[in-house]
Amino acid sequence: MKLQGKTAVITGAASGMGKEMALLFAKEGANVIVADLNGDAVNEVVRQIADNGGQAKGVIANVTKEDDAAAMIEAAVQSFGRLDILVNNAGIMDQMMSAEAVTDELWYKVMEVNVTGPMRAIRKALPLMTRQGGGVIINTASVGGLHGSRAGMAYTASKHAVVGITKNVGFQYGKLGIRCNAIAPGAVATNIGTGITQPDPFGLEQAMAGMALQRTEAGDPKQIASVALFLASDDSSFVNGTVVVADGGWSAY
Ligand code: NAD
Repeated sequence: MKLQGKTAVITGAASGMGKEMALLFAKEGANVIVADLNGDAVNEVVRQIADNGGQAKGVIANVTKEDDAAAMIEAAVQSFGRLDILVNNAGIMDQMMSAEAVTDELWYKVMEVNVTGPMRAIRKALPLMTRQGGGVIINTASVGGLHGSRAGMAYTASKHAVVGITKNVGFQYGKLGIRCNAIAPGAVATNIGTGITQPDPFGLEQAMAGMALQRTEAGDPKQIASVALFLASDDSSFVNGTVVVADGGWSAY
């Protein structure tokens, strides 16, 4: 087992990629804090892990709230005595709003969840990891964090910021034994699309233009969880401050 004895906090762990990461990390021996806004779904993931003989604790947490971010990190220490792995995975889309259509409200909401959330959790986790002599941070970015038109402007900017956070933390804390990497998934079949209720027609058309370049079906969230396992484990001990793209080759063109 690749994560035996480790403790991991995973945000957005009640659905999609975060859920698959929680199930896989527990299967690989980790104690998992399943953190998410959605309490019922959190309980279901914790139940599934327990049914499979794993260890998990659920924390209902909104990553945009300082107290909630602190509570999920503290839960790792209180329940399992330490924190080895933090996965900042919770994220939301932006209705594909183009630059002229984005509202202040949407802009700040996307930035709060996708950028401020990871910042708060990382800020809380680093002193603990430093005291322990090391740790691993994984951020779920997106190919939208590396390219210009995979979504609207706010989502694109937010995921570019996640890549910036990843490089900054990876470099500055590497000498303290802490690695920080991001995953940039392409299109993956999860529930994230259900949030796209009133897309901006122009922004949507611009973002969809590149879909013709996809050479595979949408990915399975399990395919992203296995990348996260690689980054969480010692198999990736020399990988730091970088972004692993998992998009079936979409962005290779
Ligand atoms: P999902 O909607 O299936 O899961 C996201 C989870 O995050 C949900 O359980 C939701 O309740 C939770 N969440 C949302 N806001 C939160 C908050 N403020 N606090 C705590 N939890 C919150 O989506 P997913 O596709 O699995 O998304 C996971 C990550 O992957 C996101 O960061 C997303 O931007 C990124 N991503 C998704 C795709 C894709 O095609 N699905 C592609 C690239 C990147």
